[in-house]
Amino acid sequence: MEKNILQAAILGSILGDSVGVPVEFMPRERLTKQPVTGLRSFGTHNQPAGTWSDDSSMSLATIVSLTEHDDDFNDVMTRFLAWLRQGEYTPFGICFDIGISTERAISRFEGGLTALRCGGSAESDNGNGALMRMMPVLFDLRKKFGDNFATDPQSYDVIHNFARITHAHPRNLMACGLYLVIANELMTAKLNGGKHFKGAAVASGLKKARDYYQSNPAFQQESAYFARIFNTYFGMLPRKEIKSSGYVVDTLEASLWSFLSGRNYADCTLKAVNLGGDADTIASLSGGLAGIYYGLESIPAEWLDQLQKKEWIDTVIEAFATKML
Ligand SMILES: [Mg+2]
Repeated sequence: MEKNILQAAILGSILGDSVGVPVEFMPRERLTKQPVTGLRSFGTHNQPAGTWSDDSSMSLATIVSLTEHDDDFNDVMTRFLAWLRQGEYTPFGICFDIGISTERAISRFEGGLTALRCGGSAESDNGNGALMRMMPVLFDLRKKFGDNFATDPQSYDVIHNFARITHAHPRNLMACGLYLVIANELMTAKLNGGKHFKGAAVASGLKKARDYYQSNPAFQQESAYFARIFNTYFGMLPRKEIKSSGYVVDTLEASLWSFLSGRNYADCTLKAVNLGGDADTIASLSGGLAGIYYGLESIPAEWLDQLQKKEWIDTVIEAFATKML
């Protein structure tokens, strides 16, 4: 069961990214008229169907690092550098998109700075480039601190270190913590027989993470930025009130909203993609949560069949599951 959830979390994220890649940056009005209904070819980055992007490349690099080492941030950054310069961890050997803060951080690492000091911490470093690659860390945390890691302050240090190698602003660290604690609560609910409604699991995760962040002076000013998702009725907001930009708060909101308002894996993913804007990242994050909650069997087989380098991805996930579970 745990392996099924791990596979669904990772494949659900990568597939969400792939569904979004052809329409990344597309305005919502155009997607409202011609909504995405599955995997498409070409579009924004002119890639074949099933092509995944930076979100998945950086997640896969993290997975390989976690499989071979124990929280070795310089090793993670070495792999990010190989992705940027040599096109490793990509479908076709080229890195075709990267965020500004991420590129700057990797360049600092290339210049000799230690990984944990590479991430920018300016207000302008609050894009979603750390959040988009967080899902693998969930399994590292459960292995280290158990399934209730959300009540252990040490687990947040690990999350924040994984984030800070590219994005070190406290708002960004907090967004990553909120996402992983929610994902963990969904996984626990699933393992307990899926008795919980997803809204209850999300609320429970938010409460645990909020308790930590509100008791930590470094984050007290940041909580206000997440006020909307702390509202019980957040998932019921109308679509027009959900922004889908690459700002980490907007991205976290949009992915949670898509997950909460969707009916199954495909619906959660398509709801996210059709918000437009940073569609691939939002769908990757929504797809990861939906994968956990609805399970591997809920992911459409005809989508999975079209995923580029699917066999290699399966091998990487298999080795990761063997190490983590
Ligand atoms: Mg992307």
